[in-house]
Amino acid sequence: MGFRNYTIATFGSHSALQILKGAKDEGFKTLLVCTPDRTTLYRYYDKFIDEIIQIEEWTEFPGLEKQLLKRNCIIIPHGSFVAYLGLDQNKQMKVPYFGNKLVLDWEENRKMQRLWMEEAQVKVPHRFRRGDKIDRPVIVKSYGAAGGKGYFVARNQKELDEKLKTFEEARFIVQEYVIGVPVYFHFFYSPLTEKIEVMSVDKRYETNVDSLGRIPAKNQKGLDIEPSFEVVANIPMAVRESLLADAMSMADRVINVSQKLMPPKGLFGPFCLETIVTSKEEIFVIEISARIVAGTNCFIDGSPYSYLLYDEPMSTGRRIAREIKNAVKQNKLKEVLD
Ligand code: AMP
Ligand code: AMP
Repeated sequence: MGFRNYTIATFGSHSALQILKGAKDEGFKTLLVCTPDRTTLYRYYDKFIDEIIQIEEWTEFPGLEKQLLKRNCIIIPHGSFVAYLGLDQNKQMKVPYFGNKLVLDWEENRKMQRLWMEEAQVKVPHRFRRGDKIDRPVIVKSYGAAGGKGYFVARNQKELDEKLKTFEEARFIVQEYVIGVPVYFHFFYSPLTEKIEVMSVDKRYETNVDSLGRIPAKNQKGLDIEPSFEVVANIPMAVRESLLADAMSMADRVINVSQKLMPPKGLFGPFCLETIVTSKEEIFVIEISARIVAGTNCFIDGSPYSYLLYDEPMSTGRRIAREIKNAVKQNKLKEVLD
């Protein structure tokens, strides 16, 4: 079956515009599933969104399965899949899915994610276990892809104990707060070419932590401001080339180890190493995102890095569609779907 018989489908949120624009540029039919509050936005882009299926709530999504199968849909997961659908729903979905679902557990469970990173010899911030003495500033994070929502920081043991009293999340980790700058590296690993490509780099614009510096410390005194890390937008970056070399070799190890831990396919497609770079130029991975991240939305028309590899605008969304197209042409579609 030719690739034009497939429909690329996703949920209306996160990076849906990029994914469907990329799919259309590669010649696929496109379909979007969304809730009523988003329909006005997405209808505006009928140039590349062929069809919109509206559902009242995300929980209705599994009910669409038959329809999507009939249309030869391939689902492209993004940040909202785990956030809105949950891990189990995600795994149970029978519609072909771009990616390896075995990766979901390793990503969602922060302890497993840590094992994966350690095995890949990637630096990760120190993690404090229950009962450990807290001897430095820490950040407390709940599980799941939540865009920094609900995180908090504590300077010491006393402050941590105090704040945990009112913290409602059941599953969370306590991690060393690394002082440095955040840098998010976006990669794509192609199982067809067995190569890793640097797609782009961004940093996040987080409220309110990114604007605390606008108020001098002396004016903050008495205001009782707590830093929060909720992402509002993303900002493109070009990094020092030496950092790029380090990030690339980290990505390489992360992929290699994933093939052992989540055999045989391991992690493939888009992924992001979310890092903090310190003043000693150490790169700490604070999280890995095993799918397209919203920071790639800065580069719908390509990035300086994708331009090095492609003489045409190549977003991460388009790169995904290109991979599916190449897989169809080489009769290897099964290799990129789950
Ligand atoms: P939304 O489309 O804004 O409802 O976002 C869907 C999910 O993706 C939520 O869990 C968000 O927290 C997450 N998300 C949305 N935009 C971003 C972003 N720019 N960076 C990181 N996560 C995001
Ligand atoms: P994450 O959800 O892990 O991507 O983290 C969201 C944001 O929290 C990051 O962009 C950072 O600003 C901040 N953050 C997370 N972990 C750490 C850490 N260990 N040290 C410093 N800042 C962090």
